[in-house]
Amino acid sequence: MIVGIDLGTTNSAIAYWHDGEPRLIPNALKGELTPSAVSIEKNGAVHVGSSALDRMAFAPEQTATSFKRWMGTKQNVRLGRGKPHDATEMSAMVLRSLLDDAEAHLGERPTEAVITVPAYFNDKQRKATRRAGEMAGVVVRRLINEPTAAALAFGLQDKEDREPFLVFDLGGGTFDVSIVEKFENIIEVRASSGDNRLGGDDFNEAISALAAPRLDVDDALEALSPAKRNALLFLAAERARRALSTASETDFSIVVDGEEISSIVTAEEFSHAAAPLLKRLKEPVVRALRDCQMDPGDLSEIVLVGGATRMPIVRNALTRMFGRFPNNSIHPDHAVALGAAVQAGLLSG
Ligand code: ADP
Ligand code: MG
Repeated sequence: MIVGIDLGTTNSAIAYWHDGEPRLIPNALKGELTPSAVSIEKNGAVHVGSSALDRMAFAPEQTATSFKRWMGTKQNVRLGRGKPHDATEMSAMVLRSLLDDAEAHLGERPTEAVITVPAYFNDKQRKATRRAGEMAGVVVRRLINEPTAAALAFGLQDKEDREPFLVFDLGGGTFDVSIVEKFENIIEVRASSGDNRLGGDDFNEAISALAAPRLDVDDALEALSPAKRNALLFLAAERARRALSTASETDFSIVVDGEEISSIVTAEEFSHAAAPLLKRLKEPVVRALRDCQMDPGDLSEIVLVGGATRMPIVRNALTRMFGRFPNNSIHPDHAVALGAAVQAGLLSG
């Protein structure tokens, strides 16, 4: 059986082709996304996903996230007591965990996979990803570009030739804009641009900068190590920001020494604080269009991908930028994995 895998910087997901459509496979916690996080205890016990991320707040030195950023490099970290791990090895741990979930859900362990990679990944980064798949025990049938996968999930393969999709992908730490087109049954990425230092995490920092000074914390927060303090503030900001995707105000709260301390942030304040980040969304879009000599009017669809596009302020900025509503018929968190499963379906006929 072939599965499709979105091996993301922040979150990963696995899907398969069933009864003529792609379907996500839930993990052991019934979630459709598995955080791309690894934590290793001193005794060698390995945690992957949500349980690893939870350990970030109290054992940051044993926990790694965003290691996809070092894919294809020699950079490594030593978590727990064992040997250091590089990004390929930690990605293999994430893949193995996804495959375990697939086996539990489907009753059969997948033997082959289509894995997605950013369109800008070079040969070394692609080889490292392929290697991670092999280490996790699957035959990597194909690596496909994330925007290509997203476009497949949104049905590009059923469109006429030369009906370009603009894929707008705002993840946890990276922003990718791609223009994808079908021509004579080949799907190609015509242009790709972005900002690899812009994503949901930066919006967390904006919230934290706004709300943390309002917390009445005495010295309790100051007494923590910088790593622990940052982890606490980051998690509080993450919760607050998600809440603001559907509410007009929320609590920014942390627990220090068993005591909860909180302050209120409104959506309006957040929108104000995030304005400089929202401004940075435009330039890569302009560049991608210019690279293939297109106007916004030439685009057949503007599709939203990545969890951070769930922020209403991002959707509004985009609607203003293009003068029309983006297509959000597929859940932005799921599009890449679903598209990888479409490719898996095509490969298995
Ligand atoms: P990546 O491609 O980097 O793995 P994802 O597409 O999974 O990342 O996006 C992760 C980002 O999406 C995080 O910054 C997270 O905060 C954000 N996100 C997820 N759900 C929401 C939500 N409901 N509101 C706002 N942001 C969200
Ligand atoms: Mg992604």
